[in-house]
Amino acid sequence: MKKIHWDEGLSVGDATLDDEHKQLIALLNRMIDLIDASPDAEQVHRILDELEFLAAQHSRHEERISHQGSPEFHEQQLRAHGDFRAAIVEARGQLREDDLDNSLIDMTESLVTLLVTHIIDQDLDFAPLLDEREAKSHSLTEYLVLQFQKLPLVRGLEMLVVVSLLPMLVFAGMIMHQSWQAASQAGDVAKLALFSQQIGGLAHELQKERGLSAGFLTSSDRAFRTALTLQREASNGQLLQFRRSLEQQRLDPHLARVTEQATKVLVRMEALQPLRQEVDGRKLEPQESFQGFTRLIAELIDLTNLIASVSRHENASELFQANAILIQFGEMAGRERAVSSAGFGRGQFTRQEYRLLVSLTTEQQILQRQFRSYVTERQWVRWREQISNQAVIAYQRLSDYALEFGSGSGDLSVDSFTWFRVATQRINLVSDFQRQLIDELMQEMKRERSASTALFMGTVFGGGAMVLLIGFVALQLAKSIRLPILSLTEGMRALTADDKSLRIPYASRRDELGDMVAAYETFRRKLIRTDMLTMGEELGPLAANRHALVLRQRTEEGEAYRRLASIDSLTGVLNRREFMQRAKTEVSRLKRHEGALSVLLLDVDYFKQVNDTHGHPAGDRVLRIIAQSTAAALREEDVLGRIGGEEFAIFLPSTDLVSGLGTAERIRAAVESLRIQLGEVELSVTVSIGVSEFVAGESSIDPALGRADRALYQAKEGGRNRVCSYPVV
Ligand code: GH3
Ligand code: MG
Ligand code: MG
Repeated sequence: MKKIHWDEGLSVGDATLDDEHKQLIALLNRMIDLIDASPDAEQVHRILDELEFLAAQHSRHEERISHQGSPEFHEQQLRAHGDFRAAIVEARGQLREDDLDNSLIDMTESLVTLLVTHIIDQDLDFAPLLDEREAKSHSLTEYLVLQFQKLPLVRGLEMLVVVSLLPMLVFAGMIMHQSWQAASQAGDVAKLALFSQQIGGLAHELQKERGLSAGFLTSSDRAFRTALTLQREASNGQLLQFRRSLEQQRLDPHLARVTEQATKVLVRMEALQPLRQEVDGRKLEPQESFQGFTRLIAELIDLTNLIASVSRHENASELFQANAILIQFGEMAGRERAVSSAGFGRGQFTRQEYRLLVSLTTEQQILQRQFRSYVTERQWVRWREQISNQAVIAYQRLSDYALEFGSGSGDLSVDSFTWFRVATQRINLVSDFQRQLIDELMQEMKRERSASTALFMGTVFGGGAMVLLIGFVALQLAKSIRLPILSLTEGMRALTADDKSLRIPYASRRDELGDMVAAYETFRRKLIRTDMLTMGEELGPLAANRHALVLRQRTEEGEAYRRLASIDSLTGVLNRREFMQRAKTEVSRLKRHEGALSVLLLDVDYFKQVNDTHGHPAGDRVLRIIAQSTAAALREEDVLGRIGGEEFAIFLPSTDLVSGLGTAERIRAAVESLRIQLGEVELSVTVSIGVSEFVAGESSIDPALGRADRALYQAKEGGRNRVCSYPVV
């Protein structure tokens, strides 16, 4: 029995386990040695004792590790170990003193099989388990690599994409959120601005109406009456706009305070109608009318202040403040206009009026300073230009004049309506400026909004495109990695099942997978070549025979081809050319050394019938089997060749005619006894053989072959299935 050879490829990656495997194998090898040494039972039992001890110890070691693997793996280990120990016990029982040799062989064979199968099929699975354990005790990267190995490749790549896209998505989400917020904030500000503009406009109209009402109550100038009527229409128009925009413009929920307050203010505005009626009936003191309007205007001013405080937008809230200040400024100017109109109307100012004028002027100066702090330098310059306009200069002159005379009690020679007009022009300028300010704000918000919207859309589409692109590329990459791996797996499995037909088409890839596929292809071709050169499994028995010259695996390439050229591909024996070559060599050797050489010619009987009845492939098979059978009947130094369709020639060195006849008879009998299975049918064939002998002095083997042919002819004539010689002995 052959000893077991330890191959380093059987290492499971753990020094202890490997060592124990080697020890177990060494023990079994000792048992194999024992087979040839005619042992006594005691020796066998001693080795079995050692084996039992070592197996138990080894099982414990393995089970401690397999315990950490999958339950199935652990189970499998337990089962295999149990089987091995049971086999030892059983072996002891079956060890028969009377037939120790044979029972030892049986026992050893079964133990070797169990052990080797276990190591190869099961224990090699320790390697990944041990690797994993090792990685756990090592670095994080090794651990991660291991975790990734547990995933299908595509999953891993998907994870990679997600992990790399996640921060990007979060970032994009933040940008989207911010830009969306900015856009909606800008939208809010624009709405507020429009609203604020309308409130300012309404306050402005009411201020004018207040002044005209006061003028109407104090002066008999008919111009006041007409202007008042027109003004009331303007006020109403503005009020209507204010109401409409409050109804239509649904302000956002967080601006509810503004909406709520505005609604209340709108309700208060209903006081306007009764107030006007009282003015018309001259039932009110100018003072009272003035206060009535002022209260309403104050409500509006409060509303603009509220808007300024509600707005969260940085630039806008400054402008809203400036706007509120301007409205207040306008209000102070309006009051000043009313007070001075009354004074001019009467031709003189009371002390109280005078003081009021002074304080209103001061107030305007203060508001102007405040205004400056909320607007940009450019806006301030524009404001200065606006109020240095002609109307303002005229107003300033008149105002100074009023103050000058107001301080004393001298008569005023300024017409009250003229004054009113000039003062109104100034207030209009303020109101215009205020409207411009809001317009500017609205423009800015519009720009801001569209910029933010563009950013939002850009992020949505850009981000989306990026995700799609990366995802697409990653998936293609995954596919390009996965496909060759799948093919390789399939190819390897096919090779395991002896199917060498699977060509993998990725060997031209330039990456590591290409190298892998190329290596597989080289391996596969090598297998095919070896296969072709060894000529199929039918030649199995021939492989043991030197005559057949069957090629062994791992033959050097050149040698292999040389042999291929000398071998008959159907039967694996020498072809005609090679046979004749060898015969020539043998004959020239005989010229130098004395010696006998007999020649046999063999022809299958009624072979045509085999072909006709069972088909050509069956005929081929029969030829192969006859070649095998013939080869098996020969010695090592005999040379067998196929020299025709179903004709073989043999030369037997150092063999005379009589011995040649003996060999020929052995061959004939062997063929006759063959039972060839062709599907359902069992077939028998016979051969006829002609034998001759080389005669010293002949220059080639041809004369001997000729004689053998004659003998063959006689054998056929004689009824076939027989051996004849020429000359007859
Ligand atoms: P016998 O020799 O007994 O006179 O009869 P036979 O039928 O064998 O006659 P013959 O020698 O003339 O026939 C040879 C046949 O062998 C003819 C051919 O069809 C067949 N043959 C030759 N070479 C091959 C081969 O390589 N394979 C198969 N299947 N048949 C072959
Ligand atoms: Mg023939
Ligand atoms: Mg024949």
